[in-house]
Amino acid sequence: MTDTMTPDQRHICMSHIHSRDTKPELKVRKWLWSHGYRYRLNVKSVPGRPDIVMRPYRTAIFVNGCFWHGHEDCRKARIPKSNIDFWEAKIDRNRRRDQENYRLLQENGWQVIVIWECQLTPTLIDHTMREVELLLNENMLSLYRHKPIPYSTEEEGHLPMAAEDGNDWKR
Ligand SMILES: [Zn+2]
Repeated sequence: MTDTMTPDQRHICMSHIHSRDTKPELKVRKWLWSHGYRYRLNVKSVPGRPDIVMRPYRTAIFVNGCFWHGHEDCRKARIPKSNIDFWEAKIDRNRRRDQENYRLLQENGWQVIVIWECQLTPTLIDHTMREVELLLNENMLSLYRHKPIPYSTEEEGHLPMAAEDGNDWKR
């Protein structure tokens, strides 16, 4: 990738990082939706305004473009040869901001899932999303385990205690 953009083009390109409904994000949303998952988008009250918020799973999902978010060791994240300092500083800032957001979320009890653009190619997307699905289940299980079991309900108060005959449950 060579850096031959005019300042105007660059401005458009750079503002893209903040744009919503980017294509990789849309792929993730469509996969989740078609597999029965429901979510909210860009919830302001959640730190870092994650792309996708799945509150029942207490999970925030970020779908990151490899270049802008500086995906390590990724072909798509190669810095252009010209203006190298400019790009490096820019990407570095983005990365630090991302890390800060993830940290803030985790401190508030959120699980963070980061999906990279390069993991969403037609050959990889299903594998990637199955992995996301397993992580979601894991998050749900951990929430379930920490949920207090109600001691007794009103209905239970009116029912007699059950008593079973014998001690043969081991059979
Ligand atoms: Zn990548």
